[in-house]
Parts: sequence; C-alpha cells; structure tokens
Amino acid sequence: MEAHVLGFPRIGRGRELKRALEAYWRGESSAEALLHCAETLREQNWRYQYDNGLSLVTVGDFSLYDQMLDTACMLGMVPPRFGTVNGDVDLTTYFHMARGDAQRNIPAMEMTKWFDTNYHYLVPEFSAQTNIQLASRKLLDETHQALALGLRPKPVLIGPITFLSLSKQEDGVNRWEFLPQILDVYCQMIQRLAPLCDWIQIDEPVLCTDLSLEGKAQATTTWQQLKKAAGSCQVLLATYFGRLDEAVPLIAASGCDAIHLDVLRNESHLTEIIQQLPTSMMVSAGIVEGRNVWKNDLRCSRERLDRLRNMIGDERLMIGSTSSLLHVPVDLFQEQQLDPAIKSWLAFAVQKCREVALLAHLLDDGDHEALLRGSDRIQNCRRSDSRVERPLVRQRAAQVCDAMHTRTAYALRRPQQAQWLHLPLLPTTTIGSFPQTRAIRLMRRRYQSGEVSEQVYRTFMQSEIHNAVSEQDVLGLDVLVHGEPERNDMVEYFGQQMDGFCFSEHGWVQSYGSRCVKPPIIYGDVSRPRPITVEWIRYAQSLTDKPIKGMVTGPVTMLCWSFVRDDLPRDVVCRQLALAVRDEVQDLEQAGIQLIQIDEAALREGMPLRKDEAETYLRWAVDCFRLTSAGVADTTQIHSHMCYSDFNTILPWIAAMDADVISIEASRSNMDLLEGFRRLEYPNEIGPGIYDIHSPRVPEVAELIDLIWRALEVVPKEKLWINPDCGLKTRQWPEVRAALRNMVSAAHQVRQRV
Ligand code: GLN
Ligand code: ZN
Repeated sequence: MEAHVLGFPRIGRGRELKRALEAYWRGESSAEALLHCAETLREQNWRYQYDNGLSLVTVGDFSLYDQMLDTACMLGMVPPRFGTVNGDVDLTTYFHMARGDAQRNIPAMEMTKWFDTNYHYLVPEFSAQTNIQLASRKLLDETHQALALGLRPKPVLIGPITFLSLSKQEDGVNRWEFLPQILDVYCQMIQRLAPLCDWIQIDEPVLCTDLSLEGKAQATTTWQQLKKAAGSCQVLLATYFGRLDEAVPLIAASGCDAIHLDVLRNESHLTEIIQQLPTSMMVSAGIVEGRNVWKNDLRCSRERLDRLRNMIGDERLMIGSTSSLLHVPVDLFQEQQLDPAIKSWLAFAVQKCREVALLAHLLDDGDHEALLRGSDRIQNCRRSDSRVERPLVRQRAAQVCDAMHTRTAYALRRPQQAQWLHLPLLPTTTIGSFPQTRAIRLMRRRYQSGEVSEQVYRTFMQSEIHNAVSEQDVLGLDVLVHGEPERNDMVEYFGQQMDGFCFSEHGWVQSYGSRCVKPPIIYGDVSRPRPITVEWIRYAQSLTDKPIKGMVTGPVTMLCWSFVRDDLPRDVVCRQLALAVRDEVQDLEQAGIQLIQIDEAALREGMPLRKDEAETYLRWAVDCFRLTSAGVADTTQIHSHMCYSDFNTILPWIAAMDADVISIEASRSNMDLLEGFRRLEYPNEIGPGIYDIHSPRVPEVAELIDLIWRALEVVPKEKLWINPDCGLKTRQWPEVRAALRNMVSAAHQVRQRV
C-alpha cells in the first residue's frame, strides 16, 4: 500500500533555509552556497520520509521562496517590469519577483494568504504581454536528484485550475484564455517526468472552495489532458483543506488514477463521494492531519481507514497526510523544554511521516494490538490530564449569557464617553507598538533566560515606556499608548501568561519566504490566572494627563495564530479565550484605564473556505469579541484594530462587533474602502490608517491632508480618528517620529478647516 505525505516543510529543522537565504540576500554568501543548502535540505527531507517508512518521497514541494512563484517561473510568467525571459528564469529575477528590486524601485509581486492557512504565496500576474513557455527545469532536476539517491520520487505540481484561480489579471485580460498554453507547458513537463516515476501529484486545493464558473467548466478536460501526457505514469489528483462537494463529479470524469482527499473533513459524505468515483480510481486517504501538531489517534484512524477499505478494497487504497506538512514544524525531537507529558501528545512533520507509514502498516493482517494500545495510552493520558479539562473553566463558560455580550446602545454610550474624554475633532492616536529596538529585544531575551533580574527588567521596560510616552507627548498625539516594549509577539505574550498554552523552542513554520512564525500551542482549557498588562499600562498612565489606551490581543486572533487543540470545537476554545481577555479588560478598567483596544488583527483570516460556513464562523467570532468587550461601563471606550483592508463582505459583522472605535488598514487603498462603511452607514467611530507603516517612507503632510479630506467625504467629522495603518514595531524611531509629526500636523490643519 502506498504511503506518502503531500509535502514536507522546506525551512529545515534548524531554519537552515532562512539563514542561507538571508545570507545570500545580504550579499554575504554565493548563489552556489544557497543552492547547495537547498540540495542538502531536499535530501534531508526525503530521508525523513524514506527512513520513516513512506513508500514515496515528494519532490517539487521544496522551494527557495514559494511554490506558486516556482510554478509561475515554470510557465515563464515573469511580469514585464522585471525584464524579459530568455531561457530559464535566473535566481536574481526570481528573488526580484518575490521581494521587489529596491535598486530599480520595482515592486514585488503581490503576496496573499494560501487558502485559510497562515502561509502566504505570491500572486501570479497575467497581462497582455504574458508569454507562456517552459522556463524552469527545477522539477525535473529535483526528480533526478531523488532518483540518484535511490529514492522513489513523486513529483508534485500545483494544478492548472488552482494556479489560474489564485492568479490575477490586468484589466482587459482574461487569464483563463491562457489555459491552452499553460496546459501545453504542463504536458511538456509531465511527459519528461513520466518515465522517471510511478506517480505524479497534481495539487488542486481550490476544489475545496466554492469553485468559479471558469474553473468548473475547464477542470475535467484539463486533467484529462494531463493524464494523457502522463501515459502509463499514474496521476494523483490531490485535494486538501476541506470538503469536496460539487467537485466530486469533475474529478470522477478526469481519467486520473487516484484522488487524494481529506478524510477527516469529508467524513460525513465519504460514502457518497466514493460512490461517485469510477471503480478504477484509487483513493489516497488524508488521515494524518497536516495542519496541527497533535499525535494521531491510531485506533480511531484505523477504524476510519477500515471503513473506507471495506468500501473500495485494499488495492484502491493509499494512505497520506491530509495536506502538505508545510504548515507544521519539522521535528519534535528537538524540543527539550516542553513538559514531557504534553510533548508525548504531539507530532511534528517528521513524526507525522512515521504515523502515515504506521497506519499503512496497521492495515495489513498482523497483530497490531500492542501498537494500538500504545497509542490508546497516550490518548487516554491526554484526555485525563487535569490541565486539559478544568471544571471551573467549563462551569464559567456554561454560565455565559446574552447579557454578557451586550453593551448599552452606542448612541447612549457616546455622549458619556465624550463628556470625560474632551477630545478634539479628528483625534490622533497610534495602533499600539513603537519601534522594537535592538536593546529592547536583547533585554527581553536576557530576562527570559534568567540572565537579568525581574527588577532590572522592569526598570528597563519602564524607562522604555517613559520614553514612548514622552515622545508621544512631544508629538502632540491626543490618545497615547505605552508602546508594547515588553511584548515579543502579540499572541505569544498573552499566551505565555494564560493557562492552557505551551510553547515550543524550535516549532517554526514558514509564513512566507524566509519568514517563520512559532505558533503557541493551546492544549488545555484556557484561563487567565492574574492580570497581564495592568501594571505596565497603569505605569504609563501615571506619566501623563492625556488618556492612555490599554492594549490587549483579542480572542479570535489568539485562536487563529495558535495551534489549537483538536478535542474541542474552535468556537468553544475561542469562548474560553474571550473570557480570559474579558478579565484583563475589566482589570484594566478597574485600574482606571478607560480606553482599551482589543486587537483583532486576524478576524478576517479565520474565515472558512466555503461561503456556507462563513456565517457560523462570523457569528461566534463576533460574539467572542463582544463577550470580551461588553463587561465595562458605558463611559469606557473600547477600540479595536484590524489589519486588513478587504472588508466589503464582512462589513455588517464589523458593525456588529460594536467597538466604539475601530482602526483599519486603509492608506494604500486611498480610502476607497471607506465607501462600504458609508453605504452601510457605519454607526460608530473609525480610524482609517493614513500612514502606511509597511514602508520606511515618511509621508508628506500634504498627502496626509489629502487622505484625511478623502476620508471626510465618507466619514462624518465627529466620527473620524487619525492614526497609522498598524503598529510601529518594525520601524525605526527617526522615521516614526517624522511620520507621526506630519500626521499630527495634518490633523491639526484639517481640524481648523472642517
Ligand atoms: N497593537 C498591535 C501593535 O501595534 C497591533 C498589531 C497588529 O495589528 N498586527 O503592534
Ligand atoms: Zn495591524
């Protein structure tokens, strides 16, 4: 029985790829060194797969930056601003496409989220100049590399339907018209690969979303042609991330040899799906979760697989991960600090390869009871651990009632807040963080490692807060913040001080390019044993007569940026988080802080892939925000911040959050996005960011004034706030100072004229 994973993390267990890339970009190492590192990493990844008992190793999942970018390069789709393609796309052009060319001031390709994961891909661009031609031998070379090592390669390509669905086009161009040329290149590649391998994997995750009309119309014939090019080499059409629904008949008619599907997310329809497939089509069962870090419950999985096997028979079954393992860390064995019990419940990519192989093995005739009992023991230990299910947390969650979600009507709160706040028109503020200097990072690290005392740490942080507050005072901002010097990361910081969270040391996951994140792990019921931010914020308030805005991370964002336990529904976990953050908000209020910002940077990205699931998600996500924020007096002003500009589809939900003030990303959209808020007659106050903090450029007063006037066309002057797009932690003080000075000056000038 074939056992395989859909893809493996490419960053390396010690983030070797990150280091090699960054050294190369800084000009400190050669292209050869980078390519050598890449080659070594590929070999290592295949060894993990092979040594752990998989029958195939996946090839082509490796990338120096991103697999969508690699596919664009294979198709010769270099946007014209980067130059023309002659032969294969070279490394310099490749990285210019990914990161922009600073010297020639050419912007990078756009980057966006890969389905509902936290991975970001580069968006291929179709224009009138697009000239499709085979322009990369990468996949072929890598397949040869695997063969030379004596391995059995399974090359993987992003399918043409997914590729086209995720691309963008310039006005007047219809990207679907390029499909025949694209297919031609795919077929050339597949014809060359076919003699080298038994299986080729075509990834079509887009089949787990609501498919476009074009996609639906073209899918089946597209795959038929790919299959034809493959000849006697078998083609596996891989779907992942969700339910298949209406895609099943399209796949059934594709002529492909196997379909890969996520068994867990298609469980309720599995029989129906199988019935629609031709009996010649094999089924690769995605059973080991590719997106979380929990050890597989082998007995439960074997039962699932048995049911499937009873439907289709042994010969038609393959075993796999639900998705690529790109979304989990590499190797659990590196972790030295994790609580041993919790560690025994976890599996990272290397361990997941083993689980896939074990499950294939468990389906043969032998006596596997010992193995299964070992797995049972771990699952039982996890279930019965007193940190996992905690009666007090459950009781409290059960007592949540409607009233806890509801504040007095905004129209009645507003005058009560205005009365004590005495803010001018167009009040100015920031989103929370100020530059995280080297000294700040160093101090946090030294404190964490126990090198400096609590006292030294606190004094240092207080002086940083002092500094941030006086800077803001001098700049003349109206609502101040403490600057967040004590926070490494907006989720990790809060998670570290809540029960139910744990943290890996090396659990890095690629976010994009060389950027990695280390998501916290929520393993048990969540609560907040003691105040987290109160002391810092109270200290900041003691330094100034201006109002300080307290700063907390919202429950939905904590959820979206963590590995979440799989033994409770996400909304239940989110409600626990909401209660924990609610406690913090109330304690801040108790301490005299009457402006409190609850950041929900990730609310939008938690959206499910299928439209019919969106409403359920939005309902509980918004409820959780309200639960967090509705425990305060009418006079307390609740702010929220969201890091994206794509609001249109969820605007009524944003309104339902009922924050007194929201700040959003807007500068790059030129305030166009406010149109939606106007149409909705968005009732509360709003701060569309006018300063793009993603760029080191200092905006001029005149352009800021212009943006404010544009905002005023849409937002009544009584409801408009003036602030940057997001937090300033990645910027440098000189540019921040200059930009905020201009922002305050622009606000003052417009204030006098409205
Ligand atoms: N308060 C946070 C900050 O300023 C918000 C960050 C975010 O939205 N991603 O850094
Ligand atoms: Zn933001």
